[in-house]
Amino acid sequence: MNGNEIIELSATQAARKIAAGELSSGELFDAYRARAAADELNCFTWVAPERRAGVNGDASAPLGGVPLAVKDLFCTEGVPSQSGSRILEGYEPPYTATAVRKLRAAGASLLGKTNQDEFAMGSSNENSAYGPVLNPWDRTRVPGGSSGGSAAAVAAGLAPWALGTDTGGSIRQPAALCGIVGLKPTYGSVSRYGMIAFASSLDQAGPLTRDVTDAALLLRHMVGRDPCDATSLELPHEIELPSGVRLDGVRLGVPAELTGGSVGADAGAEVAGEGIEAGVLDAFRLALDQAAELGAEIVESVSLPHAPHALSAYYVLAPAEASSNLARFDGVRYGLRAEGAEDLLEMYERTRHDGFGAEVKRRIMLGTYVLSAGYYDAYYGRAQRVRTKIAEDFARAFEQVDFIVTPTAPTVAFGLGEKTSDPLQMYLNDYCTVPMSLAGIPAISIPCGLSAGLPVGMQLAGPAFSENRLLDASYALERALAFDGSAARV
Ligand code: GLN
Repeated sequence: MNGNEIIELSATQAARKIAAGELSSGELFDAYRARAAADELNCFTWVAPERRAGVNGDASAPLGGVPLAVKDLFCTEGVPSQSGSRILEGYEPPYTATAVRKLRAAGASLLGKTNQDEFAMGSSNENSAYGPVLNPWDRTRVPGGSSGGSAAAVAAGLAPWALGTDTGGSIRQPAALCGIVGLKPTYGSVSRYGMIAFASSLDQAGPLTRDVTDAALLLRHMVGRDPCDATSLELPHEIELPSGVRLDGVRLGVPAELTGGSVGADAGAEVAGEGIEAGVLDAFRLALDQAAELGAEIVESVSLPHAPHALSAYYVLAPAEASSNLARFDGVRYGLRAEGAEDLLEMYERTRHDGFGAEVKRRIMLGTYVLSAGYYDAYYGRAQRVRTKIAEDFARAFEQVDFIVTPTAPTVAFGLGEKTSDPLQMYLNDYCTVPMSLAGIPAISIPCGLSAGLPVGMQLAGPAFSENRLLDASYALERALAFDGSAARV
């Protein structure tokens, strides 16, 4: 096969060709390595220098040696793992994250580490200390974040598939903005051991892939209880490759709170923006028509009354956890240490001053404030109660429908620099994805069309452990929608 033919294969197709002896895993790895090394989008912070025995996945294992791009915040032994931060520049961990270790054992080869927002804080990948990532559909635009490098690499055909993490939308939103599939599984289904933490009660790893089948295949080999992560769990059933072609009897709930023009209104009139962009809503509505043609029942009466408060609760809870998690970066244990300090305290201060970027500092301050003794109940305690209400909303909705469907992000990919001076506008990107994160439930974004030539994502969310049903429904829709992402693979 020539290089172009190889790149057009999905990861699952490539693994099958390798198993059938029609393609060698070395050939596949070299084709992608060459593309990743020539990356013009700044997707990668490190690319594997060569094929290495013992490091490259075993071609006879289920993933056939297919190369994998891994978000920088997954610790990979002896390979830089910097979480997009200056404070971890050059840090090479002594161990590998469980998710990566499991995938390697299943036959995945480490192709490279991907650029991301610093400590996964962001929605545009502009918060990386290693520079922004460009969207392959339009290089003047952002790929979304925080898993922007992973999403852009897969969309551009620089990697067959990639690992990302999602705390409030960081797999789903960049997948949407880059025209690929992104799945955030049920909280706990993938071990967080070795993932450089942002907000531990929300962080969850998942696949960024070209199609739904690839997402299922990658997820299948990542999940499982891990004694190194007490919050990890065993899924009640193995992840199956999807095969659904119809949606007969499937009830899709369309909550007005996450699909209307008033999206974002609660965040205060001055930052309300335009709600969901008209072109995004159009593509979303057309996809719903397709779903109805496949037999789905569209239920508009479903309601998530507390969802409009999710973003506010998230921006209390996530910074609170981050302020605690990031206390470990003190110049003593890892990475950067500021020179010339007179005493220990000054060394801490200077290291953190030099090592953290503006968004990270903003979150540490916010998080420390909401956890301070005098304000704990007023902010943190209250946000926790909102979180419970949101989970209850979903539980009630799932008595009425099988899945909740929304646009993944309120807009298509926006211009580089367009939202960097206004954090609240930036935060609104996650308006439709954060509720599912707070509830810990699985949600997938699949490309559902274009608006002004840029991809639009549709989100489907289901109850905890509904991954197989979610993948099946997404697969049926994906076939009917027949989204063509090849324009981004140049
Ligand atoms: N954009 C959100 C944030 O900045 C979500 C990030 C994420 O999911 N890691 O916190």
